[in-house]
Amino acid sequence: MENFNLEAFASSPSDLPKSAYVDLLLFISDIKPAVRIGVLDDVRAFKLYLWAIDFKYFSKIDNDGFVFISKLNNIEHLIQIDQSNQDHTEELGKLLGYPHCCIKKISEIGESNIDLYEENVVYNWSFENDFQLINPKLYYQGYSLISHIPCSPTCKKSLLIARKTLSVIKNNQSHYRFSNFKKWLSH
Ligand SMILES: [Zn+2]
Repeated sequence: MENFNLEAFASSPSDLPKSAYVDLLLFISDIKPAVRIGVLDDVRAFKLYLWAIDFKYFSKIDNDGFVFISKLNNIEHLIQIDQSNQDHTEELGKLLGYPHCCIKKISEIGESNIDLYEENVVYNWSFENDFQLINPKLYYQGYSLISHIPCSPTCKKSLLIARKTLSVIKNNQSHYRFSNFKKWLSH
């Protein structure tokens, strides 16, 4: 994970929703090619946009206040897909770097049902042994190691992502911006 830009992570705005730091960590670690960060007021959205531009990422705020950040010059495409009236779960999932198996599952559930599915099904799953690393329940508390809903409590592709994230955390654990993630250091 020599690619990890600690300066970029450390200087990201400090008042974002906690889940945003999971997305940013995965993005800066090259685990995700692009991110979509929401639940921001205008000021924080604009600060995040300025941060992205400052670090030479591509970025744009859409009409709904979502901040898109990408390493590729595909921001307009990302926004167009996200706002499309056609079913775009698979294509958007791919652009945001989710594993194929997990995208497929979400597309079967239907994008509009994701929240109910997460609360009523996924949160009841038990994640055994190493698979504790892929528990998405910790996302909103800001310290999950993946930023998508895994297709099952034993999804190997998700585990691979979680292990990469964990290795970045371990390599940078002394920095205070990683304190949210310290629960994982014993793994
Ligand atoms: Zn999966």
